[in-house]
Formats: sequence, structure tokens, C-alpha cells
Amino acid sequence: MKKFIVTGGSGFIGSNLVKFLLKKNYFVINIDKLSYSANPYNLKDIGKNKNYRFFKQDINNKNKVLKILNRFKPIGIFNLAAETHVDRSIDNPEQFIKSNILGVYNLLEAINLYTKKNKKKLKLTHISTDEVYGDIEKGKRSTEEYPYNPSSPYSASKASADQLIKSYIKTYKISAVISNCCNNYGPNQFPEKLIPKLIYSIITNRPLSIYGRGKNSREWIHVKDHCEALLKIFFKGKIGESYNVGSNQNIKNIDIAKKLIQILKKKSIIIGNNVKIKFVKDRPGHDFRYALDCKKIHKQLKWKSRTNLNEGLSDTFHWYLNNRDFFTSVSKKLYDKRLGLKKK
Ligand code: NAD
Repeated sequence: MKKFIVTGGSGFIGSNLVKFLLKKNYFVINIDKLSYSANPYNLKDIGKNKNYRFFKQDINNKNKVLKILNRFKPIGIFNLAAETHVDRSIDNPEQFIKSNILGVYNLLEAINLYTKKNKKKLKLTHISTDEVYGDIEKGKRSTEEYPYNPSSPYSASKASADQLIKSYIKTYKISAVISNCCNNYGPNQFPEKLIPKLIYSIITNRPLSIYGRGKNSREWIHVKDHCEALLKIFFKGKIGESYNVGSNQNIKNIDIAKKLIQILKKKSIIIGNNVKIKFVKDRPGHDFRYALDCKKIHKQLKWKSRTNLNEGLSDTFHWYLNNRDFFTSVSKKLYDKRLGLKKK
């Protein structure tokens, strides 16, 4: 049975990827240090699956990662272990440097040691973001050749990791590919991120906080489409290449909030009196627009995202409605501030 390591497998995208790979009959080893955004609820239904192993481990621990590589001899690693919330990176960048840059450095070192000693093939698929390209002018979309121009400590840490990986491919001949994906939505997302945050506010009859005037535009992909793209990139992606992973579905933040309210109205679900859009002070360095050009992955790997945004949002809303324990399984203290419920 072929084995994969997923780092950050207890977080949002990682837990969806772990389940996706198990369904495809791969053996999955999850390495996650269980930071605040890891939620045990995310993997509760895989229980004692015989094809799954979990290690509570920081990817910075090179020796432990090397030990896991030697023990399981996986065919590949999907690296999703990272600090991921832009606001947190503005409040406290240090952890982002540690996990997103040094963590990747240590992972690369472990891979290098392992492949040199064992002469085994091991391919790293590193999960990066569209945010590395920075603000994209209206009418344009960033290709993989677009210059990196990050605006937040988060996107700068991701950009640094991408560059480090490219240097290890050239210098140490590591087998690696990079995916630069747009904003994901779907089940298991930590409730400080826009879509689960809005859904949580709706469920609990609170105002829907939106930065600035809500005009910032993001491209959204359903996490299940992202998982399919990642497997395709692993098997078909050329070593040393980057692939943009997008949906071509851009929407302003305020329209996301409006769409969620429309979904409720359509289902005749009662909406609380406090559920109203509330504009809050904008985030510093807030990029106005991200938009990916995905011709490369469409043409070379024959992959396209499949989920229509309206349907995907509706399914996602229902998932959170039917899994309210997801919200209660996260300590509210961890995201009260991010919901604007507490003063800084
Ligand atoms: P998340 O915050 O939900 O999950 C991250 C996981 O990584 C958590 O389980 C956490 O415990 C773990 N982790 C953090 N630092 C670690 C370390 N040093 N060692 C081991 N584990 C560690 O994040 P997510 O939204 O699932 O994002 C996963 C990856 O995808 C990140 O690299 C992110 O940059 C990238 N990405 C996310 C999006 C998105 O919209 N969510 C879009 C593009 C790219």
C-alpha cells in the first residue's frame, strides 16, 4: 500500500486531504503539532482506521521527521503545516517565521538526509498560496511567472518558503513541486476565517463583521477540488514547477455575506435580528484583490475545479449547521478576539 505523509493534517485543508487520501486507499501519516487551529473534531470519524497514523510533532524537529520517514518510507509528503491567519501574523509574526520558514527548512533537511542515505524517491508537494503574488490589478490574473510581492508577514513567510524550496531543488536535487492556491472554503475550517466566521455569526445571531467596505475581492475554491488538484500535482506535476490552483470564481467579501443570507432565506430558515452586515476598521496592508491564471494546470495536468460557488457555499453552510459541535469543540477564547467580541 502506498504511503503519504500529510503535515498539518489536523487543520482545515489537511484534515480534508487526509480523508480524501484514505478514501483513495492510501496509507496516511499525519504529522501535526496541534496548534490552536487543529481541531480533534476534524478527524473524529477516521477513529482507528488501520491505514492512518498520527504523530503530534512540530515539523521543526528534523530528527523526529527523519525517523518517521525511515520507518514508513512514504512515496510523498504534502506539506500543509503552517501558521495561516493573516491577522495573527500582523499581531505576532514570530510564529509564522518559525513554522512557515524554519519549519520548511527543517523539513527540506530531513528529506535531503533521507533521500541521500536511502537512495529512495520521495516527492514533496508544498502547499503555498495566491497571496505571494500580492495585490493584483483589476482585469489581470497572476500566472506562475508573476513576480512575488507579498504584503503581510503571513504571505512573506509563504513566499520565503517557496523560494527556499526552489533553491533546494536546484542545489540538492530534491524532488518537489509547489501549488499556489486561492482561498479555500468547506468543512472543518477554523472559525476565525471569513466563511465559517460569518456562518458562526449567523447561527449565533450576531452582526457580520466585514473589513473596510467589503469590496476586497478573493477567488474561492472548495477544499475538495483543492484536494483533487494536490493529488494530480503530486503524480503529474513536473519537479521544480509551481502550479496555480484556482476556480476563476472571484467575489467581493460583502457579496459572500449576502450570499450566505440568501441561502438561509431560500431554505426559509429564520434569521436573527442582529444578523446585519457591520463594517469594521480595515486590516493594515489589506490586499484588494487576488486572482490566479490557471491555464498551466488546466493544460498540462488536465485539472479544473468543479464546484460551483453557490452550490459549494450552500453545502458548506449546511455542513456547519449540521455539525454545530465543530464550533463548541474549539475554545471560544481562541477566536473571540478575531470575531470582534473582545477588545484587544
Ligand atoms: P490551518 O491553520 O487550518 O491548519 C494548519 C495546521 O498546521 C494545524 O493543524 C496546525 O496545528 C499545523 N501546524 C502549524 N504549525 C506547525 C508546525 N510547525 N509543525 C506541525 N504542524 C503545524 O490551515 P489551512 O487553512 O488548512 O492551511 C493549510 C496550508 O494551506 C497552509 O500552508 C496554508 O498556507 C495553505 N493555504 C491555505 C489556504 C486557505 O484558504 N485556507 C489557501 C492557500 C494555501
